[in-house]
Amino acid sequence: MAGVIRRLDETVVNRIAAGEVIQRPANAVKEMIENCLDAKSTNIQVTAKDGGLKLLQIQDNGTGVRREDMEIVCERFTTSKLQTFEDLSAIATYGFRGEALASISHVAHVTITTKTADAKCAYRANYSDGKLKGPPKPCAGNQGTQIIVEDLFYNVSTRRKALKSPSDEYSRIVEVVSRYAIHNSGKSFSVKKQGETVADVRTLPNASVVDNIRGVFGNAVSRELIEVGCEDLKLAYKMKGYISNANYSVKKCLLILFINHRLVESSALKKAIETVYAAYLPKNSHPFLYLSLEIAPQNVDVNVHPTKHEVHFLHEDNVIESVQKHIESKLLGSNSSRTYFTQTLLPGLSVSGGSEVKSSSTTAEPGERVYAHQMVRTDCRAQKLDAFLQPKEKPPPDPEPAGPSSSSSSSSSRTTTVQPHSVDMDDTDDADMLQALDEQEAEVPQNDKESSVSAHDVQRKRPRTEQQQEKQDEDQMVAATSKRRVIKLNSIKELRTEITENTHKGLQEMLQNHSFVGCVNPQWTLIQHHTKLYLLNTSKLSQELFYQILIYDFGNFGVLRLSTPAPLYDLAMLALESEESGWTEEDGPKEGLAQYIVDFLKNKAEMLEDYFSMEIDQEGNLIGLPLLLDKYTPVMEGLPMFILRLATEVNWDNEKECFRDFSKECSVFYSIRKQYILEAEPGEEQDAELNSWRWKVEHVIFKALRTLFSPPKRLSEDGTVLQIANLPDLYKVFERC
Ligand code: ADP
Ligand code: MG
Repeated sequence: MAGVIRRLDETVVNRIAAGEVIQRPANAVKEMIENCLDAKSTNIQVTAKDGGLKLLQIQDNGTGVRREDMEIVCERFTTSKLQTFEDLSAIATYGFRGEALASISHVAHVTITTKTADAKCAYRANYSDGKLKGPPKPCAGNQGTQIIVEDLFYNVSTRRKALKSPSDEYSRIVEVVSRYAIHNSGKSFSVKKQGETVADVRTLPNASVVDNIRGVFGNAVSRELIEVGCEDLKLAYKMKGYISNANYSVKKCLLILFINHRLVESSALKKAIETVYAAYLPKNSHPFLYLSLEIAPQNVDVNVHPTKHEVHFLHEDNVIESVQKHIESKLLGSNSSRTYFTQTLLPGLSVSGGSEVKSSSTTAEPGERVYAHQMVRTDCRAQKLDAFLQPKEKPPPDPEPAGPSSSSSSSSSRTTTVQPHSVDMDDTDDADMLQALDEQEAEVPQNDKESSVSAHDVQRKRPRTEQQQEKQDEDQMVAATSKRRVIKLNSIKELRTEITENTHKGLQEMLQNHSFVGCVNPQWTLIQHHTKLYLLNTSKLSQELFYQILIYDFGNFGVLRLSTPAPLYDLAMLALESEESGWTEEDGPKEGLAQYIVDFLKNKAEMLEDYFSMEIDQEGNLIGLPLLLDKYTPVMEGLPMFILRLATEVNWDNEKECFRDFSKECSVFYSIRKQYILEAEPGEEQDAELNSWRWKVEHVIFKALRTLFSPPKRLSEDGTVLQIANLPDLYKVFERC
């Protein structure tokens, strides 16, 4: 039996039709914005409640609707924009069929308040099912139109149920408003939730397209835009817009496309553009584009359904190809004028960097994504070959140029030598430094009766990485048989505590895990730590390092024996003759002072030798200095001043202060200092010296700073450590973020 065909009730037909036209709040917004623009508005404000389902309000400052037109404005096929069929092909406005408002009024309660320029007042009217519900009421109002749409789909429960998420609907509304805002720079737009004072998107009347893109999509994309524009008379189209360069990419291609000022979609064009970018962007990354096409109206299929955003036009393939070519040429043009292409095209940053990151970047949590600008491509544990190749040391300058012994002795006999009882230093690997040092210390004659404990019990309270801890454990097994004397002096214990308690942990971690970059000059060194580059004052750091070694290894030093004894008298005279000493005639004759210094230090000789391995013989000659770090000898130019200052700057009356002062003076003498090296004679010797200090800084000083150092807090504030670059910032500078 055949079903009975019945004519549907007209309101139901209208409702179904309306539901087709207006599928969700954002469609209504789009239609209404286009109406505002048709009415020459320059300011359009959109307000929504519950994603536009409860309320949508669009306020403009356009021409308004005449009082007499208000009755039919919401009826189907009423439009002020089209009179004859011929008009259709030349239509320049958005709407032309008078369908939008009618549709909306079939599925929502519509209130229109509007005032034209000539009208004495505004009028307000309510609409339902395309019909005016009562005569328009005069009211106050500015020129323009306000349309309020309430309870969208109140009478279409299936549609209402399909739109479950107001926040999702709201973001679609924001999307529509912001795209029209970008396209209509020069006009101001805003969109906000009802009750909010701050708009989610707001554009200003004097803002440019790029300003508006920045406002909506942010700086990252707006600063990577290339302006495009082309025209083809034969194909009868014009195109302009902005496209992202190869330096920018997003997960999904974003093509904001306007054709004849209407927001549309064209998957064919999108696909064509993606092919162009595929050659320039890394895999799975896509461009951003805003394109505005103007096509001769007669060529565009205007009669598409309002919800069918997908457009088609005459000569579509040719137009797309033409646009494609233009975009490609622009991308290439930007390539030659800037350098980022080659960088972007370097094979997979993430591939080569990935494995390195895990091992070296301790900041990255496991599983956490590491971006290129956070990647650390160095491993602080990496060994360099030259660590094993100590440059030949230049013989230290003779501290006593007038001395009779210097002329007779061969050059080799003038070199500072290490005591023969120590291990063969030249053959020891730098990594064995600690071991060598420990062994040496152990070989210091044990004349301190109160204290001789095996090395096992003498855990030096020094920062060590796990690796070094292991190494130390091994060392202790080797050294277990030798002795190291334990210092029970309270003064030294206090000085050690001062050091440990004053440690800057962050700085310590940095020094432990740094990668050595290079020496700028004797005074300044560059290191990298994670993604940061630091400039460190080598003089200050080495001085502090030697001070700490003097305090920690107090009473346990090896000896650097001078093969030619250096008369203290001559050293003191040299110092007094230098400007640095600040000697004036009021201080008395230099000779007398020099002799006084000799006698004074001879008096302290026993103590100096016992605690600091500073050896002075019966005749008043300096014959030995403390060995503070293996493969490191101080620059002898500093020796005269050191001797002078021992007599003048050390408080010998107070035990603790005496040890502290001596260690301070000694550490100044041992520290890497600029003037000595730069004042060296030019020529080969200087080169040797230069190589020598560079090697020492990298393989002795900075190696020790890694393991044996507790940086005091003040170093973080006094300019000793300067951060000069941070990788993420550099990426910003070079626009590769
Ligand atoms: P269309 O835009 O196709 O003409 P609409 O249903 O969108 O049809 O609008 C119907 C008519 O209502 C428009 O032709 C216009 O005259 C008037 N109108 C709608 N919105 C506005 C507005 N914001 N300002 C002035 N007139 C408007
Ligand atoms: Mg319209």
